[in-house]
Amino acid sequence: MIYEMIGKFSVALLISILLLLLVSLVLGILLVKKKRLVLPKLLLFTVDTFYFQLKKLAKRFGLGEKIIDLIGIEVRNHLGFKKFVKVEAGDRILIVPQCLRHAKCPARLDSRIGIACKECGLCILKDLKAEAEKLGYKFYIVPGGRFVQRIVRAVKPKAALGVACTKDLNIAMHEIAGTKTVVQGVPLIRDGCIQTQVDVKDLLRTLRAGIADVEEKLQKQGCLEDNPNPSSS
Ligand code: SF4
Repeated sequence: MIYEMIGKFSVALLISILLLLLVSLVLGILLVKKKRLVLPKLLLFTVDTFYFQLKKLAKRFGLGEKIIDLIGIEVRNHLGFKKFVKVEAGDRILIVPQCLRHAKCPARLDSRIGIACKECGLCILKDLKAEAEKLGYKFYIVPGGRFVQRIVRAVKPKAALGVACTKDLNIAMHEIAGTKTVVQGVPLIRDGCIQTQVDVKDLLRTLRAGIADVEEKLQKQGCLEDNPNPSSS
C-alpha cells in the first residue's frame, strides 16, 4: 500500500514538473521572441532550478539550448533595470569579454584589471572604453567568468553591465545576482573565441540608461553606434 502511494506520488510529481517546464518554455519563447514578460519570477525560478532539464527540452523541440540562457538574461534584465538606472554612473562598471578584441590586439593580461587595452584602435573596444569612462563607468576587458567574479568582489560596484556569449552571461548574471550588485547584460550577437560581435546600439542604450544629460551631450559630440565595428570585418 505504502509503495503504491509513493509510486503515485512520484508519477504526479514528475508530471507536475514536466508541465511546469513546458509552461516555462512557452513563457520564455513569448519573452525572447515577442518581448512579452509573464510571471517573471516563476520563469527565473524554473530557469535557475531546472536549467539542464530545460535545455534538453528546448533541444528536443528544435529550439536550441541557447534560448534558455537568453530567457535567463532577459528576465534578469527586466527585473533589474529599474534599480540599475537609479545607480550613478560612477558606481557602475562595464565588463566585456576579451574575444571582442582584434586578433592582433597588442594588449596584455594584467592579473588585477584584466586585459589592459592600449587603445590602438584596431577594434571597437577603444571607443567603447572611451565612451564608458566618459560616462563615469569603470571599464574592464576580462579573459573569463572567474575574472568577472574577481572584479566584482574587488570593486564592489553598485551596478554591473556585462557583455558575453549567452551561456557565460547567464551564468555570470546568476552569480552576480547573489551579491548586492545590480546586474544587466547584453549578449554577443556573434560568439566564438576571437573577433566576436556585440550590438553596439543595444549596449549603448543600457550603458547610458538613467544618465540622460550625459547621453544628450554625447549624442551632440557624435555617436559611437554610427561607426563600423572593425572587429567584425
Ligand atoms: S583597441 Fe582593441 S585591439 Fe587595440 S589594444 Fe584595445 S582591445 Fe586591443
